[in-house]
Amino acid sequence: GKGLAVFTSGGDSQGMNAAVRSVVRMGIYLGCKVYFIREGYQGMVDGGDNIEEANWSSVSSIIHKGGTIIGSARCMDFIKREGRLKAACNLVTRGITNLVVIGGDGSLTGANLFRQEWSSLLDELLENNRITKDQREKYKYLHIAGMVGSIDNDFCGTDMTIGTDSALHRIIEAIDAIVSTAYSHQRTFIMEVMGRHCGYLALVAALASEADQVFIPEDPVPNNWVEKLCKRLQQERRSGQRLNIIIVAEGAIDREGKPITAELVKKVVVENLKQDTRITVLGHVQRGGSPSAFDRILGCRMGAEAVMALMEATPETEACVVTLDGNQAVRLPLMDCVHRTKAVAKAMADKNWDLAVQLRGRS
Ligand code: ADP
Repeated sequence: GKGLAVFTSGGDSQGMNAAVRSVVRMGIYLGCKVYFIREGYQGMVDGGDNIEEANWSSVSSIIHKGGTIIGSARCMDFIKREGRLKAACNLVTRGITNLVVIGGDGSLTGANLFRQEWSSLLDELLENNRITKDQREKYKYLHIAGMVGSIDNDFCGTDMTIGTDSALHRIIEAIDAIVSTAYSHQRTFIMEVMGRHCGYLALVAALASEADQVFIPEDPVPNNWVEKLCKRLQQERRSGQRLNIIIVAEGAIDREGKPITAELVKKVVVENLKQDTRITVLGHVQRGGSPSAFDRILGCRMGAEAVMALMEATPETEACVVTLDGNQAVRLPLMDCVHRTKAVAKAMADKNWDLAVQLRGRS
């Protein structure tokens, strides 16, 4: 059977295990020899025990677990050609020519580069007698399929990334808990949620929890935001509300690009309204814990589709990323999506927020 390996790279997210499980089982079902690569690209470069054959039961009882059981890491070695050469050698000597990468845009970019270089890496390995002529010929094509694991929903080309829905559940649960104590003491709570460049979690959490105000990176507040915020909070209290909830995305800014932090918002509320105000920073709780049903199913569907894409690939097939489009798992050209995602980041850095939002929408 064909050699196929799956690995998780970059930041972890809930639902990655479901995706790994699906890749392993679909691969075995279709007759592949399936491998785990542990610790992301680092395991690929280091080889040894990091690359281990998987079987049907090695992915039993993992679907309900957060994080990734095969580990994830950032890897400086893989950024350099020397590291990629070692990685290529480790794959070829095991007969692996199909890779499923689950990560963010950095991980996907690395995989695409690896595929582009594959032929020249193999030439160099042959020259140095690290692989045989037979191996050079037999494993001459590398196929790549990606999936995006990220709680931020910050990738272009997909309606949802794996992990976003679970993170939202975690946030909403936390807000509901905070609301009950805020009610008792008539407090104002400022909740900081993750999302450095993408306010999706903050925005959707605000809608679902009927928060009074949300600050996100894509919609920087105007100069008179303090006045407007205070007016709104006062109105709510006058109409009988006993509490206020304000949600701040990690990357929230004003029109000059200055950060709007939970601390700053608290200062404003305390100084102007003298409300009893507390901050809750949710942090990594958002990334942990068991995945939602949606993320489990999303991982399953995407994993199966990724394996199908690899099995159908021809030497001309470009690297693809499996995404969700209108509740269908589809394959898109990997680098198109990465470029669009990078264009969004650039538009944000250029303070062209309208363009960023437009680029992020469906094409
Ligand atoms: P994410 O995948 O979540 O965006 P990173 O950007 O940190 O996270 O990328 C994860 C890993 O992918 C890096 O540590 C590195 O090993 C690899 N990688 C990222 N960008 C490249 C690149 N341009 N070339 C080669 N490898 C890369």
